[in-house]
Amino acid sequence: MVKTITHWIEGTEYGKTAEQHGDVFNPATGEVQARVAFATPAVVDEAVDSAWRAAQTWRSVSIAKRTKILFAFRQLVEKHQHEIARLLTLEHGKVTADALGEIHRGLEVIEFACGIADLAKGEYSENVSTDVDTYSIRQPLGVVAGITPFNFPAMVPMWMYPIAIACGNTFVLKPSERDPSASMFCAQLLAEAGLPPGVFNVVHGDKVAVDRLLEHPRVSAISFVGSTPIARYIYETGTRHGKRVQALGGAKNHMIVLPDADLELAADAAISAGYGSAGERCMAISVLVGVGSAADRLLPLLRERIAKLRVGDGLEPASEMGPLITRAHRDKVAGYVARGVEEGAALVADGRTLTVAGREHGFFLGPCLFDHVTPEMTIYQDEIFGPVLSVVRVATYDDAIRLVNANPYANGVALFTNDGGAARKFQHEVEVGMVGINVPIPVPMAYYSFGGWKASLFGAHHIYGRDGVHFYTRTKAVTSRWPDPRHRGVDLGFPRNK
Ligand code: NAD
Repeated sequence: MVKTITHWIEGTEYGKTAEQHGDVFNPATGEVQARVAFATPAVVDEAVDSAWRAAQTWRSVSIAKRTKILFAFRQLVEKHQHEIARLLTLEHGKVTADALGEIHRGLEVIEFACGIADLAKGEYSENVSTDVDTYSIRQPLGVVAGITPFNFPAMVPMWMYPIAIACGNTFVLKPSERDPSASMFCAQLLAEAGLPPGVFNVVHGDKVAVDRLLEHPRVSAISFVGSTPIARYIYETGTRHGKRVQALGGAKNHMIVLPDADLELAADAAISAGYGSAGERCMAISVLVGVGSAADRLLPLLRERIAKLRVGDGLEPASEMGPLITRAHRDKVAGYVARGVEEGAALVADGRTLTVAGREHGFFLGPCLFDHVTPEMTIYQDEIFGPVLSVVRVATYDDAIRLVNANPYANGVALFTNDGGAARKFQHEVEVGMVGINVPIPVPMAYYSFGGWKASLFGAHHIYGRDGVHFYTRTKAVTSRWPDPRHRGVDLGFPRNK
């Protein structure tokens, strides 16, 4: 019998049986390996109430105690990284090295949150008027919720809850229903680290659970990461209910290669960023823009590398690329490949014929490469979120920048060149939130913030870094005057500085 994954409320697994469940697959074998409970609105209410009760005391717990718990949590995540990585591979499909990489990027945010004592400091001005001082303090919002996608089941929640909790908020996480186990494992580690019950809660489910979080009067803010249509919906619905919302959406990331670039380096980067995690990354490169002679010279280098890629079960040490998340998604991506052929792109590598011995029922798709893709084609316009790389050829560098800037998505972009002037022009002119120069996946470190522009982000705040601290706190400005001998009695005029 397959196990049932249930919610985490008030510091423990939620015991009641849920009416509805979803299947959790092992994408490498195609088998159902667990069932996950789907929260009803009443279960979400229990989680929010638990967070609400905890918020009344957690906001007054000293910074020293909060950071001590986060330090302990950091140690536990590092200690258990291989167990977490195994859960990620079993439910998501990504290869072990990639799963460990994801955990390490999450750890960086936990480490950043351990510095909250410095990050959440206010400001102080003495004598703003005679004997009057003004200062600002950062206070938590209360209960905040996180809604996260399937592709980084450990890291993306870690972009949110360590900072939210460090700031004195309590948290309700609604992870992806397709790979829910890492969140439950981390909930146990947080409890082991000494986090009081109710400060961190997990509810599983789909739109029903999300909608309740969006409208719940006790939820003050929503952090969302996922696809653009849902991000837009979360932003519009959450703000309509008076909440602070940051909603990160999908992507179509370009990598421009200028003719002067180191083409071996560029080819390695394009393959790594195009096919790593089977292209299921919001920072994956899906469009390779070859300027002038660059495309002709790059193509043989790409083919050579694709031929050597090892696709297989993510638990096998030799595998470099695993399966896609579900059969439906695998078939959708394969459908895009068929569409690309129909619309006239040149299919240089076709991963649809790939089979993995012993894993015939897995959701595998080999690397696919298209050449001569044009902006009108569906494979250029849609976020495919699979191992499909499209080469677009342009005549000039300015054409390449115009192409990128015309795209509705603006998450990540990369330029490969050896020309410093070209790189500087690029960072100045390109309208994208995260820019790489000879770096294909420019995910900022935890002490910068992560986020795209345009249809890749709704809301004013990027995620983690200082933006994260600002998102999870509100400032209060205090103006104080202590009784002094020069007090001059009643004054009905509007306060002026004297
Ligand atoms: P998704 O939008 O389908 O789901 C994200 C979350 O929203 C999940 O928790 C899901 O249960 C919930 N959800 C799904 N449909 C909903 C609905 N109709 N109403 C309310 N909630 C709903 O995304 P996904 O398929 O899990 O993840 C892949 C997407 O996430 C890609 O588009 C990728 O680019 C994007 N992503 C973006 C970033 C970023 O930082 N910008 C990072 C990772 C992933």
